[in-house]
Amino acid sequence: MNADDQTSYAGYRALMLVLFGRSGQPPAWRAQAACAGQDTEEFFDPKRIEAVKDVCAGCPVLAECRADQLGWESSGQGSRRYYASGTVAGLSGPERKRLHYPRTPHRTNVA
Ligand code: SF4
Repeated sequence: MNADDQTSYAGYRALMLVLFGRSGQPPAWRAQAACAGQDTEEFFDPKRIEAVKDVCAGCPVLAECRADQLGWESSGQGSRRYYASGTVAGLSGPERKRLHYPRTPHRTNVA
């Protein structure tokens, strides 16, 4: 397994957790998901981020999906590594990472 494989695996695991839950059983909202039955590979293709976001924008369970995903990520069970790939709940990996780790403004006018 090389570094790219590890990043893909981490992103894949993140998406599988939000779509199917830690127990392996899908959360109740999953039945209404716009991505149900879609090829999950698309969710990890950097060239398809905007297309995936379009799917999520029309998803009736976007709020539930986002709450579950961000909740899981902020619970400390995730690692920074998995933000590198995967678009989930209408947010790319870097966008989710910025929510969890907001940048501190640079101090440019320090006396
Ligand atoms: S918001 Fe996106 S990733 Fe989440 S269930 Fe809906 S379509 Fe799938």
